[in-house]
This record gives sequence, C-alpha cells and structure tokens, in this order.
Amino acid sequence: SVASHAPDHIRAITPYQPGKPISELAREMGIAEASIVKLASNENPLGMSTRARDAARGALADLARYPDGGAFALKAALCARFGVKAEQLVIGNGSNDILEIASQAFLGAGRSAVYAQHAFAVYPLATQARGARGIEVPAKHFGHDLDAMAAAIAPDTRIVFIANPNNPTGTFLLGREIEIFLAKVPQDVLVVLDEAYTEYLSAEQRYDAIAWIARFPNLLVSRTFSKAYGLAGLRVGYAIAHPEVADLMNRVRQPFNVSSVALAAAEAALADDEFLAQSAELNRRGMVQLTDAFAALGLEWIPSAGNFVTFKVGDAAGVNRALLQQGVIVRPIAGYGMPHWLRVSIGLPEENERFIAALRRALA
Ligand code: PMP
Repeated sequence: SVASHAPDHIRAITPYQPGKPISELAREMGIAEASIVKLASNENPLGMSTRARDAARGALADLARYPDGGAFALKAALCARFGVKAEQLVIGNGSNDILEIASQAFLGAGRSAVYAQHAFAVYPLATQARGARGIEVPAKHFGHDLDAMAAAIAPDTRIVFIANPNNPTGTFLLGREIEIFLAKVPQDVLVVLDEAYTEYLSAEQRYDAIAWIARFPNLLVSRTFSKAYGLAGLRVGYAIAHPEVADLMNRVRQPFNVSSVALAAAEAALADDEFLAQSAELNRRGMVQLTDAFAALGLEWIPSAGNFVTFKVGDAAGVNRALLQQGVIVRPIAGYGMPHWLRVSIGLPEENERFIAALRRALA
C-alpha cells in the first residue's frame, strides 16, 4: 500500500494528541457547551486584545489577495520593538512552524537533535519528521539539565532545543544558566531557545536572549503570539536569529505561510502593551489561587513560570475523567512520560474556582 511504503522514520512517528473540540466534549458528557471550562491548552483567558481584534476585522476586507509573504509591516514592528534587523526575522504559522522550519533547514538523515525529557512534544516530532535522530536527555527536577544536554551533543548534532519556561512542566532556567550553556555549545550547532511563555516572566526572572545573538550567532530565539498575546487561533510566531540562519529558514518556509488576518492582528497585538500587562497580572494572581488550592488539598505541584501549572494526583486518568464529568477540561500528560500528573492552564478567577471545586470533588 501507499502507507506501507512511507519512509520508516515517518511511520515511526507518534502523533501529537490534540484535545477534543469543546462542542464534541459537551455532547459526549451531556453538558451545555457554555458551562464547560477549558483549561487545557495554555490559552489567554482574556481572549485577544480589542486592538488585535479590530485589526483582524480590518484585514477581512480583502481576502482575495495573497498575504504579504515578506511580512513587511510585522517585521518592521518587531524590529522597532526588539532592536533587530529585518534580515534576522522569520515569521511562522505559530511558533510550531518556526520549530518545523528550523528542523527542515538544519536537520535530516545522519543528523541529530538534542532535547530534554518532559520537554515540548514538537521537538521529537519535528526531529523525527526530518529523518534525524533525537537525543533525549533526562530531566533534572522536571526541568532541563543543561550540563547533561551540553555533554550529550554528538558530532552529528545540529540543533539543541530548549524551552524556557518549559511546557508541560513550567520549569524555568535563569538567564545566566543559559548564557553559560551557550558558551559550551559548539558554534556550528543551532540552539533553538523556545520562549513561548516569556511574556509571563516576572521582572526578576526576565533576561534578554535577543541581545546574546551578537555573541552567539548560533542562537535562535523563538516566540509566539499564541499565549500572552491571545492569538492562538490565528497562528503567528517568529524567530530572531543571525541573518544567515534566518535566510536559510526563509528559503524553506512556505512563501505565504502566515495569513493576512494573522499578520495584521499580530502587528496590532504587539503594540498593545496594556493588554499584555493585564494578561501577565491576571496570570500571576491565578497562579497564587491555584497553588494555594493545591497546598490546601495536600497536592504536589511543580513551580511554574508559565500560564499553567502541573500537579500530581496519582490516578491522573481517573481524576481527569472526574473533572471532565464536571465540565472541566485539563491536560493529561502521560504522553510526556508523566502519567501521574495533570496540567491545568490558568484561567479567569471564576474558571480557576470552578476547576478547584471540581478537583476537590474528584479527589473526595
Ligand atoms: N513552544 C512551546 C513550549 C509551547 O508550549 C507551544 C504551544 N503549546 C508552542 C511552542 C507552539 O505554540 P504556537 O505554535 O501556537 O506558537
């Protein structure tokens, strides 16, 4: 058959498990869709900024034309914001696309990528899809063990993936730990520093990886509009890298990989500092609300720097089922090698409260 003749490395891929649509879950559970609380995909509970929504609506006026494949306006806005040159940028269909494009440009058969145990699921997927070998390095306290990762780099390693904060564990590396790591990595190995949740970092946690590219031309910083900017449904992410790295990636990406609606919304979202600050503040308070509840319930959790938190319940499948029956959707992470843990995204205060009440009942 056609399928049996697909390359072995494609046939060996374990598919990414997306959550079910809310409408389908509501039907299965016999619950009204409106009463479901979805805290499963690290989305922004505030939705999107009104400025981004207006820009997206404006872009609907002309969908007959192709989007700007060079993303001129969004790149100009990113350059002004981060003090980089347009040649350093790659715009992706979500930061997922950035990870794929980097893998496409630098991986292939006979090459390898290094990533951590319990790290974001797309790293092994993108690696395998290119026929490259994945080197998974055991985690330390659920986070990246940077010394072990540096030591695991093989002669054929072309990419090291680091998520900071990491999903699904929420673990966080200090800027200076990453700098020390970068100094150890050979400069012909690309370090993909995935900062999907960076906008949630506290003032004390913040560091400026973009400024390091001048010193470490093998560093790529990956960011997204899906989380704090609230545009997950539109799919926009970006990479900031050395111009030579960005150039190769721009050669292999799809010429029109990001829609005109997404480009317009992202540009407007980038300018809405107030919405970003509001999102981070809501997240900070929600994190206290959830971790206070875990403490009261005697549950273990992993301190998280993201907009989600992973907690231990033992029978995660059973607790997940009990939560679903109460209309609360969280994310089981057995696929990440953590069968006794669940990941919950931080929602609005009342959503967090619904989750806490449902969890209390699920555990009783
Ligand atoms: N990196 C990390 C660490 C993530 O958690 C996610 C989203 N789950 C992504 C990248 C990809 O997000 P997007 O494609 O929406 O930018």
